[in-house]
Amino acid sequence: MSSQATSPTAGAAAAERRAQAVRAAVEQGLTGPDDPIVALLDITGIRAGAAALRAAFAEVTDAPVLHAFAVKACPLVPVLRLLRAEGLGAEVASPGELALARAAGVDPTATVLDSPAKTPAELREALALGIAVNADNPQELARLDALVASADTSSPLGLRVNPQVGAGSIDALSTATATSKFGVALLDDGARDWVVKAYAARPWLTRLHTHTGSQGVALPLMAQGVLAAYELAEEINAAVGRRQVDTLDIGGGLPVNFGSDEETPTYATYARVLKETVPGLFDGRYALVTEFGRSSLAKHGTVLARVEYAKRSGGRPIAVTHAGVQIAARTVYAPASWPLRIEAYDAKGRPKPGPAVAQDVAGPACFAGDLLAENRPLPLLEQGDHTAVLDTGAYYFAHHYSYNSLVRPGVYGFTAEPDGVRFATVRSPQPVAELVAEAGGDHTDALL
Ligand SMILES: *Cc1c(COP(=O)(O)O)cnc(C)c1O
Repeated sequence: MSSQATSPTAGAAAAERRAQAVRAAVEQGLTGPDDPIVALLDITGIRAGAAALRAAFAEVTDAPVLHAFAVKACPLVPVLRLLRAEGLGAEVASPGELALARAAGVDPTATVLDSPAKTPAELREALALGIAVNADNPQELARLDALVASADTSSPLGLRVNPQVGAGSIDALSTATATSKFGVALLDDGARDWVVKAYAARPWLTRLHTHTGSQGVALPLMAQGVLAAYELAEEINAAVGRRQVDTLDIGGGLPVNFGSDEETPTYATYARVLKETVPGLFDGRYALVTEFGRSSLAKHGTVLARVEYAKRSGGRPIAVTHAGVQIAARTVYAPASWPLRIEAYDAKGRPKPGPAVAQDVAGPACFAGDLLAENRPLPLLEQGDHTAVLDTGAYYFAHHYSYNSLVRPGVYGFTAEPDGVRFATVRSPQPVAELVAEAGGDHTDALL
């Protein structure tokens, strides 16, 4: 209850910190005519989110809980390091993500490797490091058989199941449909029996994993997915006559509110829904792993972009800004599923006054669809003004899309102190020379 009562205040405080950071980014020259786009991360908000996550589960269980942040959502080393300082681990799904987690100093015992396409080398490395691994399918389990037989490992090992509870409102992010590519499809003919036998034959298989996310999936459906995994764990343990499955990995997927500064639903709400739906999961018999991504970072990121030109076309005002498809691929390509809030600031970084005028907010890329918003009512943007693109801390600016060879913008963490806003460099703006090197610049004559 308390979190719901205080969340409007928390949202207003976050909005205030954001406004201070925008103003300071302009005043301190973080952004300017030659650096027309920057990304900002609210360190205070990220810390508070991590603390809220830990508190939400501590409220419903005394069992050990590892909150493994889904690195995919914000693959930036200083962010992983900050979350580590807040007691979170890392869920990784590729050699690159594992390298980022290791660079951030995340302990192997706080790291979980998922992914539907792990190579033998990746599996070997994970087992050598003692990182938890969730096998995706029978073929991967067979690879683990061989590795476990030949090497000593402390890695906790599990299997991912797809409870097939159905889709949310965004097909591309619905992981628990009848035909999803992830995990062992539990309702398919013979699958459940196969899973129980697979555990019975492998005493080292001690975890069970499911992830019924992501954005667009309602809490009751997510909880149904967790319930299915819990019931399966109970069935396995009954069949083998001991508590072989000792840990449930319930995935991530808490949806994010992109419509306002309120953080809803909260982790506390989800934890309560889980406890009501799956009480046995919280009675202390099972350790838990969670893998939240978007909900940990989304609301703490802002892209600040200059309006390079303001024009009209067919009577409609258009602000041509430096934030477009390169930092918001999902919104540009699927605007109905991924609307983003945009705020208008003036040339000095102050909230822009004036009546709302329907206008397009365009990005810099050379295709007509590169719009972050169409017909959006905002104070009329003028040349030299700024737009702030909100809730972009996860799956946006950290997921640069290199259309038009636009460089990756700098990312800066901020804290709003009484004596002013302090910025810390998370990622420097990409130098053009690096972009050339990534584009085969070292192999100029290769095709001659
Ligand atoms: C993407 C993913 C997550 C994180 O999902 P969010 O919606 O960002 O919380 C967690 N677990 C797995 C296995 C994933 O693929």
